[in-house]
Formats: sequence, C-alpha cells, structure tokens
Amino acid sequence: MLRKNSARQNIRAPGARPRRRRRIRRGFAAKVLLPVFFLAALAILISTGALGRMLSAAPAPPPEQSEQPTAASEPPPPPVITLKPALPLLVNAQNPLPEDYPAVKTVDMYRKVDVLNVSIKVSEEIAAPLIEMFDAAKAAGHSGMFLSDGYRTETEQQALYDAAENKAFVQPPGCSEHQTGLSVDISISKVPAAQMADNPTGKWFIENCWQYGFILRYPADKADITGISYEPWHFRYVGLDAAKVCHDQNLCLEEYIEMFGG
Ligand SMILES: [Zn+2]
Repeated sequence: MLRKNSARQNIRAPGARPRRRRRIRRGFAAKVLLPVFFLAALAILISTGALGRMLSAAPAPPPEQSEQPTAASEPPPPPVITLKPALPLLVNAQNPLPEDYPAVKTVDMYRKVDVLNVSIKVSEEIAAPLIEMFDAAKAAGHSGMFLSDGYRTETEQQALYDAAENKAFVQPPGCSEHQTGLSVDISISKVPAAQMADNPTGKWFIENCWQYGFILRYPADKADITGISYEPWHFRYVGLDAAKVCHDQNLCLEEYIEMFGG
C-alpha cells in the first residue's frame, strides 16, 4: 500500500492537481472531521443527559417523584412521639403545697398493716402499693414493722413544727410531704428510728421500696440537696417509673425533677 501511494504521489500531472485536492478533502473529512463531529456530538449528548434519555425507554422522573418511597406496600415509619413523664409533686421548704391543692382522699390503714395508732391514714393513691410492700416484707421473713405516721393535716404539721426542738427533721406547715398523704414513716419494734438502716428489716424497706413505687426521700448523701437530714424511716410514693430511675441512678426527688422537668 505504502509503495502504491508513494507511487501515486510521485505522479504529478498538472491536470491532476484539483482531483488530488478533492481526494485529499474527502480523505480529510473521512479520517478527521467526521470522527471529530461524531465525538463532539457524543460529548454534547452525554453532557446534557440526552443520551441516557435516548437509550432509556422510560422518561426520567421529575426530582420530586424520585424522592417518594419506592415500595407502596412498605408502611411509613411510625412518628416519634416524645412525652415527658408525669412528674411527682415536689414539696419542700422552697416548694410549698399550692393553696388550691385538692383535699386529700385518705384511707385508714388500721387493720390493713400494723400501725402505731388507729388514726393513721394515707392517700388512697398509695394504700394498695403500701399494703403490697408490707406483705412482701412479711413474705421475705421480716416482722415488727409498722406504720408510725402517714397523712397529716396542716394543723397537725404546725403543731409538730412548733414542738420540734430540732427543725432539721421537720418541715414548716405547707412544706411537708405528709400533708399530701403520699409519704409514710415506717418503724420497727424496739429499733430506734435513726438506726433503721442497721436493722435487716429496715434495710429491706430501704433496698426494696422502689419496687413498690416508693423512694427513701431523705438519703444521707443528699441532705445538702433535700435540705433535710438523713431520715431512714421516711418513704415517699412517686410511682413505679420514677422510683426505679431514682434507685438505678441514685437520685433524690429534687435531682429527678431537675433532670426530667426542665
Ligand atoms: Zn416522715
């Protein structure tokens, strides 16, 4: 071929010049321009996305449709609902009972559990869990425990406060949980109140009360937060959920409310 082409190029008749130029143009168009045009067209098609649409039978969906869930049979995920837990009522020296606090519906505990005197009452809200806790203590082999205090009227709280020599254990009237009927004092026969935690029965109540919705309201290591000295006999009903959190995370009620009430 090379030899033949060389031979043709060597033949240079004057009249053949235009024909050769045409042949050169045709060769140039076939070998260079056509591929360039083809590549340029291809590049345009690719860059505009037209090639994909040409190759695809289905038209490209608009962007908003492509964001819709693809499978119609798949149910949408359930909405996330965050509910704050109902907070137990906080009653202390800084948070007195509201003036419109409703009258407490009380239940006599006499003959339901052992009591210090027949007049001891609690809010009807806690009677059942309280009885359940006493029954569980008995079932665990404990004895001698009794209810030494429950619901107090404001007048009774006032009298206690006035008579108390050590105000570290007594809240002023309006600021005592006993006025809600949700708190109880538990005693053990022949065991001084301050030594309850050293007694196996007292220890049982302190360690297990959370399973019945109660907390030891004034722990020794929280006195600076509660404002009340250690009371191993005073239990407050806060409900099962709050009691479990307070137990698991070693929180007093003030800390629990600060954590979940904000
Ligand atoms: Zn008490």
